[in-house]
Amino acid sequence: MTTIQVHNTLTGKKELFVPVNGNRVLMYACGPTVYDMSHLGHARMTLVYDVIQRYLRFSGYDVTYVRNITDVDDKIINRAKSLGISPEQVAREYTYTFWHDMHCLNIQPPDFEPKATEFIELMIQFTKELIEKGHAYESRGDVYFDVASFKEYGKLGKKTLEDLLVGAREQVKSQDDLADRKRNQVDFALWKSAREGELGWSSPWGAGRPGWHLECSTMTKHVLGETIDIHAGGEDLVFPHHENEIAQSEALHGKPMAKYWLHNSFVQVNSEKMSKSEGNFTTIQNLLGRFSADTIRIFALQTHYRHPIEFSMESLTAAKTALGRLLRAAAYATPAEQSNGAGATAGEAVLKQNAQQITRATAESLDPVNDDLTKQFRKTFTDAMDNDFNTAIATSQLFFLSDKIFVETDENRRRGYATVLVQYARLLGLTLSDTRKQVDDATTKQIVDLVLELRNIARTKKDYETSDLIRKRLADAGLNVMDTGGNTTWEQA
Ligand SMILES: [Zn+2]
Repeated sequence: MTTIQVHNTLTGKKELFVPVNGNRVLMYACGPTVYDMSHLGHARMTLVYDVIQRYLRFSGYDVTYVRNITDVDDKIINRAKSLGISPEQVAREYTYTFWHDMHCLNIQPPDFEPKATEFIELMIQFTKELIEKGHAYESRGDVYFDVASFKEYGKLGKKTLEDLLVGAREQVKSQDDLADRKRNQVDFALWKSAREGELGWSSPWGAGRPGWHLECSTMTKHVLGETIDIHAGGEDLVFPHHENEIAQSEALHGKPMAKYWLHNSFVQVNSEKMSKSEGNFTTIQNLLGRFSADTIRIFALQTHYRHPIEFSMESLTAAKTALGRLLRAAAYATPAEQSNGAGATAGEAVLKQNAQQITRATAESLDPVNDDLTKQFRKTFTDAMDNDFNTAIATSQLFFLSDKIFVETDENRRRGYATVLVQYARLLGLTLSDTRKQVDDATTKQIVDLVLELRNIARTKKDYETSDLIRKRLADAGLNVMDTGGNTTWEQA
């Protein structure tokens, strides 16, 4: 039944997608390490795999999609130290922030969202078994994976074990303060001993915490199984994170960890990767103050997931203008198709929209026009998505159909085209809810400042009737105006 081609990092080729077990698709994407606000780079990753899992469901697969939360990690511990609070508090706070951001972006919740801290016992068990099999060793309270014991090491990142071992030997040992604990510098930690006063769980090797790579291997195994269909993440995870996951899981189980490895490219700012460490990031909340979720989605999906996106406010503004065309075209759909339905809360509306998604099998019967135009549109759209999820072409098809809607004079046909437009936009997670009449925060501030400027002009002219009326009306709207020392400020009551 399948016609989908996916680019597999493991083979470096585009391959026909054939799940391991019939119609079931087991999919795991590496989730966030919750130690700070999410930025557009994180949003791109979750958005890409949100669209891919939606498209696999559209294609009739029985998908189980897992995205984890890394809630124990050095970054969280360091952040906790700098804030003077516990690592648990940091993780909890930024887990909530992440959920909020994803919800605002209309990213469907995964079927399971395991947290690393819920799997510590199983991680210890995983480590024990690797030691028993001769793939890991204890060293002063730490446990390391013995990279030389896994002959296929480097197969994902396209590096040879020999080169890595030689490279590791040549590295100055003082660059790695744990070097004297390892057999080979390329060996990586499965278990890290807790230092004085640090977070730690008791283990056969003393108090400590799991290594990041071990977290994902263990959660993949226990939530989905020993071999899954798709393992995904950002391209910076290929080496060493996913390479190490493969080493741990395949050394222990003796079978492939995942059949297909998918990796998305970065968001860049002036050709540099957007990241926390580069300090060139824009938080999702910041962007959502100025742009709708649909705008951010269009912006991200106009580029194929394996290509970098160059971020700028200008390109987001261009996406906003482009989205305006889709919104105008979608407005021709019947109210039931394009709106949320009266009385529904925003949350209910999204749940309903997601539940009403068309499938490959129902697309034709739910196409109210089914003429040459919509047949061609549906084919081009699915051909593009079948070709390694080419959302760039799929979104361009939405614009193509919009242009046809604008010039169509037959009302029924126009309504039908608009219905098809909305159906396919939703496959990409676009709500096409008309937000054009909503005013963003920056604009609101400008308007209030303008009103206060007019009030000051009235006061200068001793027109106190008008200035008092403005103050009262602003108070009715929930804004307190304060005049102090010749300055006027305002705040929300
Ligand atoms: Zn991972």
